[in-house]
Amino acid sequence: MKALIVIDYTKDFVDGNLPVGEPAIAIEERVVDITKQFIHNNDYVVMAVDLHDEKDHFHPETSLFPPHNIRNTAGRELYGRLGTLYEDNKESIYFMDKTRYSAFAGTDLEMKLRERGITEVHLIGVCTDICVLHTAVDAYNKGFSITVYEDATASFNAEGHVWALGHFKNSLGATVTKQTR
Ligand code: ZN
Repeated sequence: MKALIVIDYTKDFVDGNLPVGEPAIAIEERVVDITKQFIHNNDYVVMAVDLHDEKDHFHPETSLFPPHNIRNTAGRELYGRLGTLYEDNKESIYFMDKTRYSAFAGTDLEMKLRERGITEVHLIGVCTDICVLHTAVDAYNKGFSITVYEDATASFNAEGHVWALGHFKNSLGATVTKQTR
């Protein structure tokens, strides 16, 4: 059994308050296509979405990044056609709040995966070298096998993107894949 975890593909992270910008906009079609495929195959699909509260001075990211993905703001909505796909398939997608980089930190994600006998996690979204990386490291430590789509992940740090892809493959034993045409 496998699961797709779509990480932080929200308006704020694509072209909003903490934008990856062009590299994130460029992967929209692949993010949507891969998500559609997993829905179609009845695989487990998770939207792991960063959640912050305004003026949360205790949160470690407050001193690192501008405010982003604030509760009940438009910036926290899924970006573009992924938003539409989610609205049309709500019953087959688990929309999950997360408050740290890793989708496993302080969430019930691991239990959801274990309950379903899932051993394989597939990762797409942003940023390759932050939230995707931390989620992949946790998945590795928990014994899941990992696939990352290099044409459906992006970062505002181009070097970080490439470094993280190498780390997934060489240190986490992940399959790093992209669509072949
Ligand atoms: Zn955040």
